[in-house]
Amino acid sequence: MKVSEFLNNTQSPFVLGAFFSRYVIEKGFIQTISQYKSTKFLDDSIYKSSLPLYLDALNYQSSDRIWEYKSKTSFQIVLENDLDLNNDRFYKLLLRKIMLSPFFIGEILDDDKKEFIRGFFEIRGSVDTSRPYLSQDYFYNSELELKRLRLLIDNFNIPEEAFNINFRELQSQFVSGENRRNTQFRINLFWYIKNIGLINEYKAKIIKEVYGINYKRNIDEIFYFECEEPSFTKAMINERLGFYLNTIYGKNLSNYEIDKIRKDLEFEEEKNDKFKRDVNIVKFMRIYAPDICAGCNDIYNIKDRSFLTRQNRYYTEIHHCISVGKDKELDVLKNLVKLCPTCHRALGKGSSSAEYQKELIKRILNSNQQNLEFAKIIFASDDINILVEKIQENLK
Ligand SMILES: [Zn+2]
Repeated sequence: MKVSEFLNNTQSPFVLGAFFSRYVIEKGFIQTISQYKSTKFLDDSIYKSSLPLYLDALNYQSSDRIWEYKSKTSFQIVLENDLDLNNDRFYKLLLRKIMLSPFFIGEILDDDKKEFIRGFFEIRGSVDTSRPYLSQDYFYNSELELKRLRLLIDNFNIPEEAFNINFRELQSQFVSGENRRNTQFRINLFWYIKNIGLINEYKAKIIKEVYGINYKRNIDEIFYFECEEPSFTKAMINERLGFYLNTIYGKNLSNYEIDKIRKDLEFEEEKNDKFKRDVNIVKFMRIYAPDICAGCNDIYNIKDRSFLTRQNRYYTEIHHCISVGKDKELDVLKNLVKLCPTCHRALGKGSSSAEYQKELIKRILNSNQQNLEFAKIIFASDDINILVEKIQENLK
């Protein structure tokens, strides 16, 4: 087919999704390619026999026999570039064609939109067997192309939380320079196989084998899974995309700067190196510090503010005088103090009025020499009012 015909005639959402996902322009042709690899989880003969079935599935979804073998294990649609389009120009014309398609303006995730999404994701997406994602390498040669992700997120009625993106510049292997992988664009596997389904039974078999979920073929030759709708926690993709475009893309940042950005973003893969609070110093305080509340000791007797435990001691709670957050430096004995439950509760961020919190903090510093000395060092000031101010501002 010629590019001019492709652009002028109606194309199935599946084919549009496939080209939107990735195309390559070379030697007078524009092509999109689909391929998938065999897995160690299934016998190799299953892979080999799946290949011709997959070619049929591609053509069936495209409502036209336009896919052909590129090699024994890859498939392609080839357009003759009769308009001599370059990368940006083809992208713009394709984008216009998609935006003018009737399915594009629909308010719900209907069958046409699902077809488009299958073209976008499945022709290049692979099943992640360690975490539940369908993931693909994401390529972009210009900022324009990077924005196609936003188009997908904003217009296809997929829950934003189902997306996940890991930009190559932010991967740990990139920073260390050991392995510069491509940017990964991922979608929640459980959401996908329940709502979009798969056209390739080989991938369905991998999921059945690895995740133990059964599937059924529906009348449109789609393999759907009966799994639970996943529960999502964070919608971050738009923020990440915006952040990436503004802060990282094309900025020639040093590894040090990128590493710092990664830390600020608290990348999910890095969460395990978050420090754990030292339980030993808390135990030590519990046992050896006297059972009085540094916050209200000079006003109330502890027996009026607490209760006797089975160990025959008054119940108290251990509090970090300067809130710790992510700063391991502050998790030390000198920063700990015993409080009654009431005072402790009052010092939660926003739990009581700022004035009351400052009063409490001042009494703690006055009755606990260790906390005062430590706060002087941390905030580099001998002025108790400044220390009180800073501690109150930093409550977490
Ligand atoms: Zn108290």
